[in-house]
Amino acid sequence: MAHILYRQGDPDAPSVIKDRNGHIVLDLCRVCGLGEMRLDESCVPVVGRNLSDRRAVHPPAR
Ligand SMILES: [Zn+2]
Repeated sequence: MAHILYRQGDPDAPSVIKDRNGHIVLDLCRVCGLGEMRLDESCVPVVGRNLSDRRAVHPPAR
C-alpha cells in the first residue's frame, strides 16, 4: 500500500512538518504516521499512531 503524504496546503498537516512559513518541508504519511526516513516500509494504518487522525478514529464520547 502506498503512503499518502501530507501535501502543501493540507489544512490538517501537523505543524511539526512545516517550516515557520507554513510550508511543508518533511514527508509524513497521513495514514500510518511514518516520516520520510521510513517511507520504504509498507504503509500500515495504526490506530492512534497518527495524532491528527486520532480524533476521527475515536470521537470523544458525550
Ligand atoms: Zn503510510
